[in-house]
Amino acid sequence: MALYNVMEEVVRDVLVQYKDKMQLTCQCDRCMNDIMAIALNELPPRYIANEEYGPYVRAAHVADRQGATNIISIVTKAAAFVSKSPRCPAMNPAMPKQTE
Ligand SMILES: [Zn+2]
Repeated sequence: MALYNVMEEVVRDVLVQYKDKMQLTCQCDRCMNDIMAIALNELPPRYIANEEYGPYVRAAHVADRQGATNIISIVTKAAAFVSKSPRCPAMNPAMPKQTE
């Protein structure tokens, strides 16, 4: 059975819920994944071995107001960073192909 990082779901939920307020310059999969990766690198992972417990752990995170506010602020920061310099082809039509 694979390990499962509940924080990934929590961050995804926050991103989906707040993306319209975050003034993203691009909402493609690549940019969304970039935002999630940056946010998840700053947040402590919450690994569980049994996916069935995911909803309980997520609920605990939502109930923890201060923790939730911290997650929202980290996701907002990551969104601002990616919006300033999106690395996806959609926002970089003139980006030269990598040669090295
Ligand atoms: Zn994009």
